[in-house]
Amino acid sequence: MIKPKYIFVTGGVSSSLGKGIISASLAKLLQARGFSVTIQKLDPYINVDPGTLNPYEHGECYVTEDGAETDLDLGHYERFLNVPTSQANNITTGRIYQSVIEKERRGDYLGQTVQVIPHITDEIKYRIKLLGNTGKYDFVITEIGGTVGDIESLPYIEAVRQMKWEPGTSCLVIHLTLVPFLAAAGELKTKPTQHSVKTLLESGVQPDIIVCRTERHLSQSLREKISLFCNVSPSSVIESIDAETIYEVPLLMRDEKLDQEVLRKLNIQAEKEPDLKSWEEFLFKFKHPSSEVNIGLVGKYIELKDAYKSIVESFIHAGAANDCKVNIIRIHSESINDHTVDSRLKDLDGILVAPGFGSRGIDGKISAIRYAREHKIPFLGICLGMQCAVVEFARNMLNMAGAHSTEMDKRTPYPVIDIMEAQKKISGMGGTMRLGSYPCQIVKGTLTHTVYGKLQITERHRHRYEFNNKFLQDFEAKGMIASGINTKDGLVEIMELRDHPWFIGIQFHPEYKSTVACPHPLFVGLVRASKESRI
Ligand code: GLN
Repeated sequence: MIKPKYIFVTGGVSSSLGKGIISASLAKLLQARGFSVTIQKLDPYINVDPGTLNPYEHGECYVTEDGAETDLDLGHYERFLNVPTSQANNITTGRIYQSVIEKERRGDYLGQTVQVIPHITDEIKYRIKLLGNTGKYDFVITEIGGTVGDIESLPYIEAVRQMKWEPGTSCLVIHLTLVPFLAAAGELKTKPTQHSVKTLLESGVQPDIIVCRTERHLSQSLREKISLFCNVSPSSVIESIDAETIYEVPLLMRDEKLDQEVLRKLNIQAEKEPDLKSWEEFLFKFKHPSSEVNIGLVGKYIELKDAYKSIVESFIHAGAANDCKVNIIRIHSESINDHTVDSRLKDLDGILVAPGFGSRGIDGKISAIRYAREHKIPFLGICLGMQCAVVEFARNMLNMAGAHSTEMDKRTPYPVIDIMEAQKKISGMGGTMRLGSYPCQIVKGTLTHTVYGKLQITERHRHRYEFNNKFLQDFEAKGMIASGINTKDGLVEIMELRDHPWFIGIQFHPEYKSTVACPHPLFVGLVRASKESRI
């Protein structure tokens, strides 16, 4: 049983400074020194989970093995560490209050007034320690969402303050701030950092290490100034300069000795230096590709940077695995129709049709898929993308005019995609989809088999609709075959085209499982096929 150390990462001055990447980079460095590490994100909003938030609000919703719908930072944690996360790794204020109120209704606090302190803060501390108490981790890194000074974050900061004073609990606080460069003055400015540390101090928390996000290098005198005003030693002022790619940040943090400083502060003897050989090899390949491909990403949220985060990252992993730069050409599905399809897609070496919900942009997705099928362009359809491939095939190859998913058209004469039996009685929206990891049996000798190189897989799901097995024979007779099935309930998980170089639709989300250490075979396969189609 390991006694864990708790590291908290707070943010000041501004949002979007990259707390998630700093947390993941520190975790990577500690892991590369041989420690076991997990990362947790505490989100101060009142939704119980981000599953009900649309991508405009919250970017991508990341799904874990155990079916939790979580913050996209958990995707970074998994991609960096190659260790699965779970429900326990993402907690929101909504979930904290939900469990406290459930306890109150059950009578667990009978006679007491239920209050933010101690009941909410106790619940927060309990959730933080759940991971530590598994005995599996040397370090639990807890990232606190939001910015210090926000009303919503106060109970979390208070929980950190309490934990720091608990006898026998070893804690460390890292505060991430912004050191802006004022062009008119020609200088980096430390005042926002000083103020944000003061705000943290007002809540009784003194940071141990300050990580400064900056566009320019911090001079020694600037580090000393921050050290003087913010009560930390100069070696605890860490520069986090803008990087070309997030995958460089662990190396930048190593150069700044962030991990060394953390170990020093926690009185831990470091037995070896971080071993980042394979990480550096990945980065080298990513930065020095010997070829390139253009892959179209067809979706309805293409203007949002974070909507398809895991897909974009999966292409980075797959590109490096193929020594190839993947240019992702984002194409709005609403901009595609029978007249524009040729001009929009003609320069692509591969096409990916994205997951999604609702009918906006659906016709454009179907047109793009028809183009990929007829022009033999490598194609990967994810979840709704797979469902659209089925609809397209039904309409254009099986003469099923008006074929559709019942999500889009309840009265379609050919419901080739239909709501799952288990979903029919469910009325609530939160956490009620088919979620998380399910096993799938791949059919021997298929393209899917070649791509995976094995027959048993597990993949993560997030959907309510599925392929309607009533039509399977018609599809297979014309060349669209089920190449992956959940043998327990007969659900079709993968469809592929027989007479096409590389055309695969999957009901699950492979993008959640691609990591730097293990790029996902479907993305690696799509990039390879796209590269070959270019020659
Ligand atoms: N809307 C579809 C469903 O619920 C697809 C979901 C998705 O693409 N994740 O089945």
